[in-house]
This record gives sequence, C-alpha cells and structure tokens, in this order.
Amino acid sequence: MKYNRVIVWFRNDLRLHDHAALFSALAKGKEIIPVFCFDPRNFRNVDLGFKKTGAFRTQFLIESVENLRKSLQALGADLIVEEGSPEEVVIELVNKYQAEAIFFSEEVTQEEKLIEERLEKSAWKLGIATEAFWQSTLFHIEDLPFPANLVPEVFTQFRKECEKFSKVQKTYEMPKSINFPNNLDDLGSIPDLSTFGFSKTANSKLGVLDFKGGEDEGKKRLQEYFWEKDLLKTYKETRNGLLGADYSSKFSPWLALGCLSPRYIYEEVLKYEKERKKNQSTYWLIFELIWRDYFRFICKKHGSKVFQINGIKNIVDNWNKDENSFWKWANGQTGIPFVDANMRELNQSGFMSNRGRQIVASFLVNDLGIDWRWGASYFESMLIDYEVCSNWGNWMYVAGVGNDPRESRYFNILRQANNYDKKGDYIRHWIPEIAGIPGFDIHQPFELSTSDLKQYGVALGRTYPQPLVGIKI
Ligand code: FAD
Repeated sequence: MKYNRVIVWFRNDLRLHDHAALFSALAKGKEIIPVFCFDPRNFRNVDLGFKKTGAFRTQFLIESVENLRKSLQALGADLIVEEGSPEEVVIELVNKYQAEAIFFSEEVTQEEKLIEERLEKSAWKLGIATEAFWQSTLFHIEDLPFPANLVPEVFTQFRKECEKFSKVQKTYEMPKSINFPNNLDDLGSIPDLSTFGFSKTANSKLGVLDFKGGEDEGKKRLQEYFWEKDLLKTYKETRNGLLGADYSSKFSPWLALGCLSPRYIYEEVLKYEKERKKNQSTYWLIFELIWRDYFRFICKKHGSKVFQINGIKNIVDNWNKDENSFWKWANGQTGIPFVDANMRELNQSGFMSNRGRQIVASFLVNDLGIDWRWGASYFESMLIDYEVCSNWGNWMYVAGVGNDPRESRYFNILRQANNYDKKGDYIRHWIPEIAGIPGFDIHQPFELSTSDLKQYGVALGRTYPQPLVGIKI
C-alpha cells in the first residue's frame, strides 16, 4: 500500500459502481475517507435573481448524497458531509485526519477547474499527493483517436472517428468492502432543502417521472426502461415524445450527478442486444451518449469560451437584454401555447423533453433575440438534469455560436407543434384551461388576436398586461 489514508472527494460521481478514483484509492490506500461537500457558491443568486441551483436539482442532489452514504455504510464505511468550499474543506480534513492523498474525478469547465487547481496547490504545499481521474464519458480521454485539444469541431466527425478507432473501457467493479478509520468523530449531517433557502419542491404530479436521486434509483430506472418494460428496442421511434415516462430513457438526472456511469449503461445495452434485440434503437441510445461525450470534450477544448456570448465560433450578434420578454418566456407567458406548455413543465417538474428544449431555446434566441446565456442560465437553475457541458453546449448550438455546420437551427414553432403535438394533448396537459377557450385553435399563435391572448391570460388565472408583440413565427 502506498498511502495510510486516502480521502476520496466525491463530486459529480455519486456512485460506487465504475468509480475510477475509489477503485484506485482502494488499491493504494490502507484506509479510505469518502467526503462530499455542499458548496454554497452553487446555491447563490445569479444576476437575474434566481438561484444557480434550483429546488428540483437541490432535492435530487440531497437524495443522491443520502443514497451514497447509505451504500458506503453497507460496505463498512461512511461519508463525511460538509458545507463550504471544497478546496478549503478537503484540506482541513486532510490535516484533521492525517490523510496522505486526495483522489477525485476531474471536471472540465472553468469554475470546477479552478477549485481543483486551488486544492492541488494547497495539497502540494502540505506535501499531500493528489490524483485526478477521468470519468463521466463513454470514451476515456486517453482512448480518443485524437489529442483532446484537437477534438473535431463537428459532431459527426467526432462520432465516426471514436466509433472506428476507439473503444469503451470496461466498468470498474463495485467495491466489496471499504476500510474506514474507526475513530472519526463528527461525520456531519446531510442538509435539507431549507438549508439552501427552499421550502419545498413543488413537484407536479403532471411531470414525466417522480425523479428520486441516487445510484440505486438510477439503476432501478435502467432496469425498468430496458428490462421490465422492454422499451429500448423502440427508443428511436419514441424519443421525440413529450408526454409520460417512457418515450425516452430519462437517465439524464442520474448521469448528470454521476449516479449512473455511461459505461454501465453501455454494457447494459450490449447485454440487451445479446439477450433481447439489436436494432437501430439500441444503437441510438449509444449515439445520444456520444453526443454527451462530444459536448464534454468540446468544453474541455474551448475552456471559458463556452460561457461567452460569442461562443466558440466567436460570432458577434445583436443579442438584446429585454428582461420583460425574458420573464414572459421563463414564466410560460409568451402567448404561444407550445412554448408556454414546455416552460410550465420545466417550472413545475424540473424536466423538459429534448424536443421541448430545442423549441423553447430556439424561440428565445431566434424569435425574441435575447442573449442565449440568459436561457442557459435559467435552464441551469431549473433543470433537474442540469449538466454543465450538455447544457451550455446545446445552448451554443441552438444560438448558432457553437460548432454546428448548419447555418441556423431555427425551429418553426407552429410546424413543430403540428408535427409533435398534433392533437394538442401536450398543450392541454400543461395548460388544461386552454380547453375552455371557445373556438380556440391551439396551433395558432395567440398574439394574432389580443382578445384571444387576454382570454388565455384569464384562463391561466392571470391577465397579460401586454402581449408579446412583434414576434414573427
Ligand atoms: P434520452 O433521449 O433517453 O438520451 C439518453 C441520454 O443521452 C441522455 O440522458 C443524455 O445523457 C444523452 N443525451 C441525449 N440527447 C443529448 C443531447 N442533445 N446532448 C447531450 N446529451 C444528450 N442534457 C443534460 O443531460 N443536461 C442538460 O443540462 C441539458 N441541457 C440541454 C439544453 C438544451 C437547450 C437542449 C436542446 C438540450 C439539453 N440537454 C441536456 C440534452 C437533452 O435534451 C437531454 O439530455 C435529454 O432530453 C434527457 O432526457 P433523457 O435522459 O430521457 O434522454
């Protein structure tokens, strides 16, 4: 054994399966001290007045940490839970418990990298070893067929080269037991929502799924989607759906916090293909996981540019900062039912389909011309599955400042509504009052008629002070 005590600092890797840092710590350390830190900076208010992390994701995070602690306890260990800046807290714990090394999973984006750098610097000064492990993607960074700073800008090229020249590594085994020091005094309690200023999660019964955080729940969802309901074989046909739990996998919240490893999902897909069926749908789930990889590697390559208004293409555009229109969009009060229904779903459940995300994002940037980063920031707060690279990468893509070879990702809202919600079931689901408006055609934009708009506002229990005018859709 190289070290007497190793701290494993958990971040967006809240699981025991396929955990590179933990696996290595078990091989190199006599005793392991798992640590998780709630960082108050993630719960601060952003300039627009909402929290960086909203109630849905906070709740999901709390549940995931609870589950991790329970799973560690079952292996004879425990989880130290702290609140504070991890770069300081982890160092304090090193001193307190005489740890000799800190192992953790590395991240790729600005804020997370800065924390790692500060931690590594402080550890170095104390003569404490640090080891950072790559996790979270299907393809390991070392197996890419190109250097990370030369990742192809276009997704198709990235995917084809990875599929041809790379391979997905096997998952790490689950640990069977963990040697945890027996004289640690205060392990810390897991905070609840009120600690972060939330009273409750207003989780709507109308939402697609009652998402519960943690590795156990993530695996349960996979078991259900693949094996019990046998839905993987039709994924490609259903994935553009809007209503219900089963049109897509809904793995994203668990992937975002690392409760599920993408390589674990990959192995389950291969097993399904062997035991049940192999077709376009089974491949398509892997295809989508490669999209996820792609955004992560693109963020690594381009650093802080992914958060800047001109994006990685450095395109100068005339974005406006019209707060009034922004809040109408955010509150689902644009007067365009398909947009409003999607925003209502997000606000009331923390989730939105991929189709919905593309539509509302396109509406904000293309129809309203509002600074795309406001939309990305609002999603960051509201989404239960927020993941920094997938979110900012997709927003850049829709805003035309990412690396999309197509000139414009404009979504015609009415055509989209007709294609994906032909009978208006989705709109009625989230805006049931709409059914009561006489002679109302759900596929028409409301702003064509101010009286319709007013009726719509009244039907929603509010009145629209002003319709959104001047939108050409
Ligand atoms: P499935 O269709 O079942 O796909 C399986 C998995 O593949 C997903 O869980 C996800 O990990 C990955 N995936 C699928 N589509 C994409 C995609 N376009 N980009 C990257 N990964 C993808 N996804 C997030 O996980 N977090 C985000 O913060 C996020 N923000 C988005 C913002 C915008 C504007 C858009 C257009 C998309 C965003 N996505 C984000 C991608 C996608 O919408 C979600 O991953 C997907 O809807 C989650 O549902 P699912 O798990 O049922 O997906």
